[in-house]
Amino acid sequence: MVTEPTWYARGLPHVWLPYTQMKTANPPLAAERTHGTRIVLADGQELVDGIASWWTAVHGYNHPHIVQAIQAQAAKLPHVMLGGLVHEQVLTLAARLCAIAPGGMERVFFSDSGSVAVEVAMKMATQYWLNQNIRGRTKFLAFRGGYHGDTIGTMAVCDPEEGMHNLFTGLLPEHVIVDLPRDEASIAAFEAALERHAHHLAGILVEPFIQGAGGMLFHSEDVLKRLRAAADRYDLLLIFDEIFTGFGRTGPMFACEAAEVAPDIMTVGKALTGGAIPLAATIATQKVFDAFWSDDPAHALMHGPTFMGNALACAAANASLDLFEQENRLMQAVDIAKFMGPELGGCIGRKGVRDVRVRGAVGVVELDEIANLNDFKRRLVAEGVWVRPFRNIVYLTPALTIDENDLQTLTRAVAKVVSGA
Ligand code: PMP
Repeated sequence: MVTEPTWYARGLPHVWLPYTQMKTANPPLAAERTHGTRIVLADGQELVDGIASWWTAVHGYNHPHIVQAIQAQAAKLPHVMLGGLVHEQVLTLAARLCAIAPGGMERVFFSDSGSVAVEVAMKMATQYWLNQNIRGRTKFLAFRGGYHGDTIGTMAVCDPEEGMHNLFTGLLPEHVIVDLPRDEASIAAFEAALERHAHHLAGILVEPFIQGAGGMLFHSEDVLKRLRAAADRYDLLLIFDEIFTGFGRTGPMFACEAAEVAPDIMTVGKALTGGAIPLAATIATQKVFDAFWSDDPAHALMHGPTFMGNALACAAANASLDLFEQENRLMQAVDIAKFMGPELGGCIGRKGVRDVRVRGAVGVVELDEIANLNDFKRRLVAEGVWVRPFRNIVYLTPALTIDENDLQTLTRAVAKVVSGA
């Protein structure tokens, strides 16, 4: 780094960074400001952002409509507890989310991160059975390649490797993890697992269409249809984790719409506020909510994060939904796919490239391996882009608002660095 700001040198020895072996990793870059699809570093370098900050900033950074909504709300009512109080932003957002959610979803439970939204979904599904006096349904059927969060409850339903089940043996509860049912052998194994375990399952949990953090793995609508049919057959709750795929990332507002399959419970987060502030939600059908509607206080959903329904976050989310209504975001995701397809497709056949796949505003180049991840990342930055490859996966999930020039900068940079890999 050419010019290191004082705050950088002073604070870096005291911060603990995510998923990072801080001793050996490249030092983090000092971000000074953001605008649109750009991140400006403290040394003046401007990077085109290919990741939208872990898939959150769908409208680009600092969108004036979202910034204005947060500022106005901060001056009026930044936060009140949701225990006993409600405010305009949270109720407006709840109603709007139910209106756009697939199927007949009727109730929204807010939280502050995706992991917690999934924890709430798991608790909701478990208590759904308990409230009906059906005991022992405390396990979930989840899938290899899946990722649902970093908390202890959610790690246990991630891919065993991704969730580090072995490392944390003894800490994590055991669930039933199988391959997604997509061919004869995996369908047979899925059916056998259901037959064997259904009586103690609360539900089936999946990321529809794209398993994100587990490796940007795509599956087809048939898989989702099969899960819905299985959930109905065995009377299980079907939970879609749309934290990555929601809000236009794969084309439609929610990925599951493309399969015309609706869940009983759905989790959203990440792009819910357009990336400005943390907020997540667990959305349930009337059928699920009905199991909690009772004269017995013990049947209430036993959860309540301190900052649940934070007014600043809900104002940002309402502003983000305005933008989806006013600007043609979903079409932009389709256009991004049309552009990225042939651009990244150029990597096919190059040495070390195993697969290239694009769905909506998700473009993936899967390599045999990335031998030196630090060096690979450095070369991407040298090309003027911010892209975060992991394991053997290089992917682009830009803001849906990205223009063709910036998108081309991203795809060309990826193609160039991949070729030298
Ligand atoms: N579910 C999915 C599908 C995710 O992609 C993520 C985050 N990558 C989470 C849950 C957890 O969200 P958070 O990081 O906000 O806790």
